[in-house]
Amino acid sequence: MKTRTRFAPSPTGYMHIGNLRTALYEYLIAKSSGGDFILRIEDTDQKRYVEGATDIIYQTLKRVGMLWDEGPDIGGNFGPYVQSERRHIYAQYAHKLVELGGAYYCFCAHKDDEEENSVSHTKLKDPCKLIPLDEAKKRIANGEPFVVRQNINKKGTSIFHDVVYGDIEIDYDELDEGVLLKSDGLPTYNFANVVDDHLMQITHVVRGNEYISSTPKYNLIYEAFGWQPPIYVHVPPVMKDAQHKLSKRNGDASFQDLVAKGYLPEAILNYIALLGWNPGDEREIFSLKELEEIFSSERLNKSPAIFDINKLTWMNGCYIRNLSAQEFATLAEPYYQHITTPIDTVALSAALQPRIETLGQIAEQIDFLQAVPDYDVSLYENKKMKTTPEVAQKALTLVLPVLENVAEWNNENLFEVLKKVAVDHEMKNGQILYPVRIALSGKETTPGGATELAVILGKEETLKRIRAALQKLA
Ligand code: GLU
Repeated sequence: MKTRTRFAPSPTGYMHIGNLRTALYEYLIAKSSGGDFILRIEDTDQKRYVEGATDIIYQTLKRVGMLWDEGPDIGGNFGPYVQSERRHIYAQYAHKLVELGGAYYCFCAHKDDEEENSVSHTKLKDPCKLIPLDEAKKRIANGEPFVVRQNINKKGTSIFHDVVYGDIEIDYDELDEGVLLKSDGLPTYNFANVVDDHLMQITHVVRGNEYISSTPKYNLIYEAFGWQPPIYVHVPPVMKDAQHKLSKRNGDASFQDLVAKGYLPEAILNYIALLGWNPGDEREIFSLKELEEIFSSERLNKSPAIFDINKLTWMNGCYIRNLSAQEFATLAEPYYQHITTPIDTVALSAALQPRIETLGQIAEQIDFLQAVPDYDVSLYENKKMKTTPEVAQKALTLVLPVLENVAEWNNENLFEVLKKVAVDHEMKNGQILYPVRIALSGKETTPGGATELAVILGKEETLKRIRAALQKLA
C-alpha cells in the first residue's frame, strides 16, 4: 500500500516550530518510501480562525521545499481538503455512528464552549443516553438543537501501538464521552480527524504526544465503523527548557519570526529535523533531499528535545558559509538598503559572509558605513597592536598621501602600499592597519580589516574618513 501522510494544521496565523517539525516528519515518512504528502486545513474551530492564515501555511511549506501532493489549492482525489468544506460529510458519518451505537444524540449541553477538550461531561450519567433513538430523531426533526456525543461503553484497557512510544495502555474509564458533532453542525477535532484520515486513506498519523490520551477514543470510532486505524507516530513536544513547551503564545519564536531574524529556511528545517530524530551517526548538516533518503521513523526519539537557539545559530552560520557568493549577496543586499554612502556591495558581502551566523547580524556589522559613530580617541589605544593615539596620528599622517596616490583601489594593492609604509618607517603592520581600521569605522570589531573596509567604502570616502580622524587626533 502506498504511504500517505497528512499535515493537518489549524490556520492560526503563524507556523509554530513544533508544527513545522511534525509536518517535516510527515513529509519524510511519505517521501522516504515514495508516498504522498497531503495538506489538510483543520479550520472547524471557527473561533480561532485568522484571516490569511492558510496562505502562511502554504508559504512556509513552499519556502522550505516541502511540496504537497494533494491539498486545498491543488486538489486531489480525496477532497475537499479544508474541513469547513466537508461539514456535510461529518454530519453524515456522525448520524451513521449513532446508528452503529458508537455515539448518541445529546440535547442537554450543546454550548459551543463545550468542545473537544471538555471533561465536564460525566460519562454514563448523561440522561440523553437513555433516550430511545426514535424519540431522539423526532426531537431533532422538530428542530431541537443537539450535539452528537461519543458513546464509550467498553470496560477494561485499551491497547494500541505507537511507533515512538511502543505499546500504550489506557483504561476506558479514563475516556470522556466528548462531543463529536457540535450544535452548529461542525465536527470537533476528535471526530473530524478520524473521518478524514480514513476517507483520505492516510496510512501514518504523526502528531504531538498530547493526542495519545485521546487515541483510544479515535480507535473506538474506527472500530465502530469497521475501519482500519492508521499507524500512529506520536512525537514529544519541542521544549523551551526542561519545564516549558516552546509556545508561540508565550512569545517564543515561530518559523516566520526566525526568518525575520535572518535564519535561513533550510537551516531551520535541518535543525528541527534533529530535534527529535537522529541519523544514527555524527552528521548534522542535511538538505531536505538527503533527509528524504535516510529518514526512518525508528530513529524518532521519545524524550523531549530542547530548542537551542545557539545550536540553530551555529547551524545557520554553516548554511550561510555554504552559500555561493551570489546567493549570499542576494540575501544580504536588502539589509544595505538604508545606506546612502556609495559602497562596494560586492566587497561588503564578501567580507560579511564568513563573519556572520544570521542575516540579522548584518545590521550591527555595518552600522558604521552610513556614518562613523562618535568615538573616543582612546579607541586608538591597543596594547596588542602597539598603538596609541599618538602612534595613530603618525600612522594616518603617513598613510594619507600614499593612499591619495593609489590608482587601483583593491585589497591587494592597498595592503602592499600600507605594508610598505610600515617598512619604510620601521613600524609594525598593526601600527598602520589598526589606526586605519578605527579611522574608517570608529569601532573595534569590523567586518574585515583596514584594507577590506577601504575597498568597501571606496577611495573618496576612505580619504574623507582618514582626514576626519586626523582632525580628531590633532
Ligand atoms: N489540527 C491539529 C493541530 O493543529 C492537527 C493534529 C493532527 O495532526 O491530527 O494540532
